Amino acid sequence: MREILKLQDVSLTYQAENGEVQALDQISFTAQEGEMIGIVGPSGCGKSTLLSIIAGLEPATYGSILLGGEPVIGVSEKIGYMLQKDNLLNWRTIRSNVLLGLEIRRMLTEENIAYVENLLQTYGLAEFADKYPSQLSGGMRQRAALIRTLATRPELLLLDEAFSALDYQTRLTVSDDVLGILRKEKKTALIVTHDIPESISMSDRIIVLTDRPGRVKSIHNMEFPPRPGQTYMLPLERRNTPAFGQYFNLIWKELDVHVETQ
Ligand code: ADP
Ligand code: MG
Repeated sequence: MREILKLQDVSLTYQAENGEVQALDQISFTAQEGEMIGIVGPSGCGKSTLLSIIAGLEPATYGSILLGGEPVIGVSEKIGYMLQKDNLLNWRTIRSNVLLGLEIRRMLTEENIAYVENLLQTYGLAEFADKYPSQLSGGMRQRAALIRTLATRPELLLLDEAFSALDYQTRLTVSDDVLGILRKEKKTALIVTHDIPESISMSDRIIVLTDRPGRVKSIHNMEFPPRPGQTYMLPLERRNTPAFGQYFNLIWKELDVHVETQ
């Protein structure tokens, strides 16, 4: 298997007005091609910071990041970012929204356009291509946001709480949806979420971070053997297995969530 991402001792200290804030401390891990890596940790432990460093938006104070063997210096074209807000432009149709990344990068070739049209077709958005974002459900908008991210064919996708703005029911179906697409397109992704069940349902491996400054506390393999004839088990199905609850207890304990008692 090909190594897509390698982080070695990545640390970051913000220079804030009232002094220094150390956000991350010596983070090391790797991601293999096709792997879904979940990242969980307490609020404010540096998860979003970690993704911005990998995306080249924020320089690390210390440590190295290799993407496909090459150091990440500045914003990398090989990375696709998906955030909580779908950031679709309301005055553009779905088609022109999903082509936006290609347009900005002057990559609107016939081949790339055909690739996007094919994604719209395969993932059920072709008949909505001429509609505007406000005419679509939250779930469909998030699917459109994913297709826009995939359009530039990134090697690595970064999802930062990508589903947390959706209501619970929608979140379940959309995460199933999105993971199905990522698996089918054989993408590698880092999936940041504060939702432990969501992380267990989507990840091949989960990295648990400590309180700030975020350090790697532990890494857990999620084993959900696919049924005969399948190549993977999707999130909704994972949620119905006995292993799911066991992993939940394990990660919950690792996170050491403190509940105030009186
Ligand atoms: P998470 O995504 O895990 O909730 P963040 O990565 O957003 O955490 O933030 C980690 C820590 O760094 C927090 O304490 C936050 O307040 C701080 N932080 C984030 N961005 C900046 C910044 N630009 N300047 C100073 N401190 C920051
Ligand atoms: Mg965050």
